[in-house]
Amino acid sequence: MKLISLKSAMLGFSAAAMLAGGVTTAHAQEKFVTIGTGGQTGVYYVVGQSICRLVNRGSGDHGIKCTAPSTGGSIANLNAIAAGEQDMGVVQSDWQYHAYNGTKPDTFPQANKDLRAVFSVHPEPFTVVARKDSGIKSFEDLKGKRVNVGNPGSGARGTMEVLMERLGWQMSDFSLAAELQSAEQASALCDNKIDAIVFTVGHPSGTIKEATTSCESVLVEVTGPEVEKLISENAYYAQATIPGGTYDGTAEDVVTFGVGATFVSSTKADEETIYQVVKAVFDNFDRFKKLHPAFANLKEQDMITNNLSAPLHPGAERYYKERGWM
Ligand code: GLU
Repeated sequence: MKLISLKSAMLGFSAAAMLAGGVTTAHAQEKFVTIGTGGQTGVYYVVGQSICRLVNRGSGDHGIKCTAPSTGGSIANLNAIAAGEQDMGVVQSDWQYHAYNGTKPDTFPQANKDLRAVFSVHPEPFTVVARKDSGIKSFEDLKGKRVNVGNPGSGARGTMEVLMERLGWQMSDFSLAAELQSAEQASALCDNKIDAIVFTVGHPSGTIKEATTSCESVLVEVTGPEVEKLISENAYYAQATIPGGTYDGTAEDVVTFGVGATFVSSTKADEETIYQVVKAVFDNFDRFKKLHPAFANLKEQDMITNNLSAPLHPGAERYYKERGWM
């Protein structure tokens, strides 16, 4: 009898302990989310890693665990978000526009009306770097040269194709049109496998630093009537300047055009998740801005208004309203 009562008392105790344990350590169910980025030496990779770092500091409270793998870039991210393979991604403003509006059917056969903007990030000038010994001094000089036009799936490659189409250029106008991933192009340039790289990226970026410190190379201007027309006809393009001295070998300002990096998701991501991601970034904004020099000049108000063509995700809107920003 005694033994039995002791046993049941113990059972009762352990059940209570388990319950108490369950209650005291209870937090939101674990939820895994992914952010699509770009090559590992680009700035998108740092954007994704930085957001995840801030989100994961709060995993104990909200249960969200975030990862930000390297990907092919903007267009790959937009396709992966549309397919439900990624929850969020970093994408160029021009490709966000085309994905939502269906204005580039060759790239996106269907408009993705589920795409949602979250915030914009750093500016991304269309950047051309050439080996000094190649003699390339202007964008037109790229004709007949060995050029990395970028990997398919990158926004950079897409924007290069848009400019080439405007200029009436073909890939065969280059003696070599390489399709290297962004993380491979600096070493290819400095190993003299190519004469120039074309990359739409924030500054300073690891890729361009590597290309301008491992060998003698220079940044090249991208100007002219066709570039001006692109800017005046499309809200997602703007004139851009890469300040002189940002990289070795280029002391003068370099004028080009550019887009904005933006952070997007879709209606498939629930409101609470996006709210928590946005909150992690803007509640810790000073810390976020220190994670990469390209983030140093970011301003909250610009980030929630500039370069966003898809509607705002409701989770982001909820946070911005809470802060009185809209
Ligand atoms: N803008 C580039 C793209 O979408 C990526 C830039 C980066 O990796 O920082 O392809």
